[in-house]
Amino acid sequence: MQAELIEATLGGECGKLDGEIVLLMDHGDHIEVLDRREIAKRMRAGGFKIREVAVALDVGNTTVVRWSNAEAERKMRKRARQYKIDNRAHCRAYDKRRNEEIKVPCPVCGEPYGGKIMCTDCRISVAETRHSLIAGMYNDGWPMAEMALAMECTVNALGPTMHKMRARGQLGWRYVIGTKGYRCPPEKAAA
Ligand SMILES: [Zn+2]
Repeated sequence: MQAELIEATLGGECGKLDGEIVLLMDHGDHIEVLDRREIAKRMRAGGFKIREVAVALDVGNTTVVRWSNAEAERKMRKRARQYKIDNRAHCRAYDKRRNEEIKVPCPVCGEPYGGKIMCTDCRISVAETRHSLIAGMYNDGWPMAEMALAMECTVNALGPTMHKMRARGQLGWRYVIGTKGYRCPPEKAAA
């Protein structure tokens, strides 16, 4: 079987990660995890034929070439890019058809959508609710740790959200740096 062939060739022990074959190499002080691309590279370097590697990894011949030959991969990408440019209408029609096919009902409103968690409208409305809650707590003087607790996230996760809110002018600062170089409430700094 494929796992035995890979182990016999490269050593180590085959396992699965996210449903795909990986090779675990025990180096004593650390374990190296080789994904299929790396396995293909090493098997090819070890003299195996493209077809043999393809069978071992259960992928197509072209994939093995792409994985084990950087120059070939570059050329394939270039050709694919050129194909898209030359057949723009066809590619766009395909993408559109495909987008329609993979749509599922939004778990919040039930409208068909092609995203990951919920439809764009629901995502925006959830974000808006979240932002207004954050702004409310912040302006009421809640400590960050308590805000994070209330929002069921970490303090570190609040930071980027609040940064973006500030960039959009949705949030101010509770403190400003006063003339003496330490933080003080804005009204005190103005005085
Ligand atoms: Zn929705």
